[in-house]
Amino acid sequence: MTPNIARVALPVPLDKLFDYLIKPGQSPVIGGRVKVPFGPKQLIGIVISLTDKSDFPQAQLKAVNTVLDSEPLWHPPLFGLLSWASSYYQYPLGDTLANAMPTLLRKGREAAPSSLKMWQITEAGRDQPLAALSRAPRQAQVLNTLRHGKSSHESLLAEEVSSAILKTLSDKGWIEALEEIPDQKNWQRDFTVTEEKPKLNDEQALAVATVNANPEFGCYLLEGVTGSGKTEVYLNLLEPMLAAGKQALILVPEIGLTPQTINRFRRRFNVPLETVHSGLNDTERLSSWLAGRDNQAGIIIGTRSALFTPFRNLGIIIVDEEHDASYKQQDSLRYHARDLAVMRANRENIPVILGSATPALESLHNAKTGKYHHLTLTRRAGNAQQARHGVLDVKGLYQEAGLSAPLIARMRKHLEAGNQVMLFLNRRGYSPAVICHECGWLAECKRCDAYYTFHQQSGELRCHHCATQRPMMPQCGNCGSTQLNAVGVGTEQLEQQLATLFPEYKTVRIDRDSTRRKGSLESYLEAIKNNEYQILIGTQMLAKGHHFPDVTLVSLIDVDSALFSNDFRAAERLAQLFIQVAGRAGRASKPGEVILQTHHPEHALLQALLHKGYDQFTVSALDERRQAFLPPYTYLTLFRAEANESELVEQFLQQVRGIFESSPLYCQETPVMGPNPAPLSRRAGRYRWQLLLQTPDRKTLQQMLTIAKPAIQLLPLARKVRWSIDVEPQDLT
Ligand code: ADP
Ligand code: ZN
Ligand code: ZN
Repeated sequence: MTPNIARVALPVPLDKLFDYLIKPGQSPVIGGRVKVPFGPKQLIGIVISLTDKSDFPQAQLKAVNTVLDSEPLWHPPLFGLLSWASSYYQYPLGDTLANAMPTLLRKGREAAPSSLKMWQITEAGRDQPLAALSRAPRQAQVLNTLRHGKSSHESLLAEEVSSAILKTLSDKGWIEALEEIPDQKNWQRDFTVTEEKPKLNDEQALAVATVNANPEFGCYLLEGVTGSGKTEVYLNLLEPMLAAGKQALILVPEIGLTPQTINRFRRRFNVPLETVHSGLNDTERLSSWLAGRDNQAGIIIGTRSALFTPFRNLGIIIVDEEHDASYKQQDSLRYHARDLAVMRANRENIPVILGSATPALESLHNAKTGKYHHLTLTRRAGNAQQARHGVLDVKGLYQEAGLSAPLIARMRKHLEAGNQVMLFLNRRGYSPAVICHECGWLAECKRCDAYYTFHQQSGELRCHHCATQRPMMPQCGNCGSTQLNAVGVGTEQLEQQLATLFPEYKTVRIDRDSTRRKGSLESYLEAIKNNEYQILIGTQMLAKGHHFPDVTLVSLIDVDSALFSNDFRAAERLAQLFIQVAGRAGRASKPGEVILQTHHPEHALLQALLHKGYDQFTVSALDERRQAFLPPYTYLTLFRAEANESELVEQFLQQVRGIFESSPLYCQETPVMGPNPAPLSRRAGRYRWQLLLQTPDRKTLQQMLTIAKPAIQLLPLARKVRWSIDVEPQDLT
């Protein structure tokens, strides 16, 4: 057969492929891009198969417009993984593939390196004595670098040279810019270890030997507190891989991609390293993608989406802080990057390491049942002391902005000793509600089933669920009274209260509001390190990945909201936060202290966590999950639906429920729960409902969904409501 039809996956929300005629002279390839007519538009899609048969008469088929690739964009294991992800996460194949491509490829850019702006030294620059530039060290640095050869604009910026310096030098005629395609790097040939490495302790050596003993697929859970030497283990695992010319992929959480992390890897090996994160522009994104594919990068470090980088010769995947919630994408293709990383390693037949001080309950369960190898590091390098910790029973105690008197006293003690204090509160704004003191009226968002958060700094009421914001009203919307009071405490209020309580110390607040400006988080973190602030207030954001050696007191000031949350993962997240901050508080010469404020010091999970540690906590927490038929003992799928009319949404999900109940796979073990109103039952004017499906294993789950989805799509209401499927949701809101 000579295939004359290309079956193409297009970036449209439809679960089907589209057939196009291949014109003479065109030679599309499976996994490569083609541009095709689609209605009045031209779309770029991926060829999934080549055939000579179509369900449609050939006379009705349109022809491929342009063939964009002569080679597939992905090698078979990754292409296979993407197809699998499309069916597992119930997301159309065309959209899934588009999701996994850099924007420029989606727009039709050639999948080959384009020219880069490079700098080279001129004769005049070569003659310039560096000693004469002692007062312009950056200029000297650039000249010195370029005397050893050309360098790209990007890599000079990465060495903290500003564009202004480059302009100054070029104005002086010492350096000149040119556009060129960078030389192919042969990093494998030049590979060396470029710094002295510490001798591994027994546990580290065992971890490294265990992974190295099996060059094929294996999933290893590396559990060890902060500072126990996990990164050192990663470095030791990378070394033989890189030496053999194989590439490494390292995934980190959203806020974990700090210059310190990147520099650890840069210092150790002289291999080209690329990063992938949300701060990259489209050109940079394509460039990292190509560097992976063309073996021009030995190491790629990136957040979630870096998982989709193709590699010519991938040798190992590392998922650092594997418990982190940012690995789950919350819209479009709702994948979990950790889970897909394990799948990818399996398909590529290479080892994958999941590292964490506080592994997710799912991963621990997999380790306990033997699916993952469990490696542990129990010692903290540099023999830092474990922080002291305790619960502070605040029942009946007077609190000022959420702070009890005993906590305030402890804070004073630590501050007077010249140390820093860190307070966690996961609620931004001044107060989560505003109430009328005379009639009890509450200021409510008109578009959501939620109260307004009061932001005092901007004098606004803001809804944290939709974009609505309005000036704070002078009077009650019901009785006209001017006595409007703030209810509850947010980070802004805490900050203000601390300024009153401790006027002699400087306070900084780290949350999404205070760090909106690009680069502001980094400069705050730097200032904290330099001890410009003594009291640090933050949401979850402050806990991730930062190490402040002068912080000796940490307090979680509202533990109860996590203990009594309707999110079944809240307790696990609280425990992870606690262990993280406890692991970072203090250092050898300055022992740290962690205080948890609660009304329920006797709470079983809290007791397990405090007195027996994270491991015992997870034993109790897993036991609770098992009894409640929750993950990891079952698999959940959440159907979310919303529309302007509540009845339509409920009706739609009733019908979806009907489809599942008539499924041949339906039984007592796979209950369908709902439809129920979502925890936030109305958002931005739309009513929200959900249906939860619980299945004992992944296979049943996927079979049920695959059978049900086409039937759901045929429901007339499916066009009237907005709905989505979240397979293994991370949160149920
Ligand atoms: P983690 O990634 O678990 O937080 P790191 O690998 O960053 O731990 O190790 C913490 C510190 O201890 C680092 O400064 C690291 O260089 C050092 N370190 C790690 N392993 C060793 C070792 N075997 N001998 C000496 N120092 C070590
Ligand atoms: Zn709202
Ligand atoms: Zn009132």
